[in-house]
Amino acid sequence: MTSRWSRITSFLNQLNLNIPQPFELNAFIRSVEEFRGRKIEIVPVDFGIDRIARGIVAWWWSFPDIDCVIIDRSAPKPLQEHGVLHEIAHMLLEHVGQRLAHTIAAQFRQLDSHAVLRALARDINRYDDPDEADAETLATLIPIAATLRLDTRPTSAASGHVRGRSKSGLSGVPSTPVKHHLYRNIRPLWERLIDTPGVSCLEPLPTQPHPAQLDLLLRRMVVESLDGLHRLRHLHDPSVAAAARTRATAAGLHPERATSVAEAAAITTAITRARHPPRGHHRPPAQPGLHHTQMTRTWGPTPGSGFAAHSIWLATIGQVLPASPAPTPSSRSSLTAPQLP
Ligand SMILES: [Zn+2]
Repeated sequence: MTSRWSRITSFLNQLNLNIPQPFELNAFIRSVEEFRGRKIEIVPVDFGIDRIARGIVAWWWSFPDIDCVIIDRSAPKPLQEHGVLHEIAHMLLEHVGQRLAHTIAAQFRQLDSHAVLRALARDINRYDDPDEADAETLATLIPIAATLRLDTRPTSAASGHVRGRSKSGLSGVPSTPVKHHLYRNIRPLWERLIDTPGVSCLEPLPTQPHPAQLDLLLRRMVVESLDGLHRLRHLHDPSVAAAARTRATAAGLHPERATSVAEAAAITTAITRARHPPRGHHRPPAQPGLHHTQMTRTWGPTPGSGFAAHSIWLATIGQVLPASPAPTPSSRSSLTAPQLP
């Protein structure tokens, strides 16, 4: 791990924030409000396909008497929660985003841009900005703070592998072997997603994670995968999924497996289209006349599902992906739908 992780871990420890265990976002927000002496309001809004496609999932607007975190209502719940944590991380790190205030405020006409003291966005393309990388790191560490404390305890190699399960005392926390399984199986999907234009990773993730860093690395992998998929959502083509499902069903696959194959095909096609947009389109449009809020059903579990359900789903797709290789531009006919308008 890089020095950033150790630096931000020390920062978090020194803050001595009251972080609820097991982690619960609303309780954490109340704790931060108390800590900073300022109210925080979470405002879910429809971001619109353009902002989603640009990789923006959350904004922080700081007003004289309140901090507002604006989040994309259509994002999966784990991504919304991470977006909120990212903006709170900016607050805790006392970042100043003044230069963005007017630009961002101008995008919402009802807002008086002069009232905004600071504005920062969670933009998944801006990890090369040190403030963004620090906020993203802190946002990743906060929900697993208890695990990190556990993982700082000296352990023998033999006991290390059951540590997360046996000593945390938390019910519902996946065991270390399960986390390894998820990490290994999500990886093929994550690799394809971060290799897609506009999708970023904070830093490279190892093939073999050290057990002490597993929670942290798994969290990064899940967040980055969901980020990438959310950003590609406007490239979802239902006809690709339908055709793949028909083929999978005809081949005798179990309905659940057929669904995964169909989703993997749709995702693979969306990745291909992001890499090779049709000529004349900088960004392929959503289906004509379809507003993005109607596009809630693309792939994945119910958007309101939690981190565990999304992790399991990502791992399922990652397992199926090798069976549906990314088509090249010259051999797209088998997986892609008709040409975009
Ligand atoms: Zn940010």
